[in-house]
Amino acid sequence: MTGQLIWTPTLIEEIPNGNYNGSLREERQGCMIHFDGSGSDRGAVQWFKDPRCRVSYNLLVLDDGSDVRIAPDTARASHAGRCRPSDPARLNYGDGNSAFYGLAIASSGKHDVTPLQMLTVALLCRLYFDKHHWDLSDTWRIVGHSSEAWGRSRKTDPEGSDPLNPILSVDDIRQLLPKVSRA
Ligand SMILES: [Zn+2]
Repeated sequence: MTGQLIWTPTLIEEIPNGNYNGSLREERQGCMIHFDGSGSDRGAVQWFKDPRCRVSYNLLVLDDGSDVRIAPDTARASHAGRCRPSDPARLNYGDGNSAFYGLAIASSGKHDVTPLQMLTVALLCRLYFDKHHWDLSDTWRIVGHSSEAWGRSRKTDPEGSDPLNPILSVDDIRQLLPKVSRA
């Protein structure tokens, strides 16, 4: 079954902060999910306009499920840092920033993501799967920063600091993938 959840996120703003490269070093293999460590949606959006900010994602997802574009989809956003594949038999990359689209939820990491935020993350992943003709059963293409970051345990996103009570579970996004589609 596909398309049980029809959802069209609203792109509310574009903040091309320039903290990305115009081209990729290798082909896309999937999507990497983060949280940005922000205290509020407003603070999150402001940070990407701040000249001190040195990072970027392709898209940032706010509490109400709307999204903000930081880097173009064709750009190598600065979101992953040093990474090594958690699943080298299937994910075979050298450069995490190129291999993965960077999707971040605006979150401090201390509160559960909202249902609309989760839906938007799943929908954005779905659109990338459709664009690349990736099989919807290849949900291993959706990863969290925590599983790929090197050294391991360097990052706790998107789950947050308590693995038994994640604020956002990559498995939940993987399960939503085939069910969500855009209107
Ligand atoms: Zn991250």
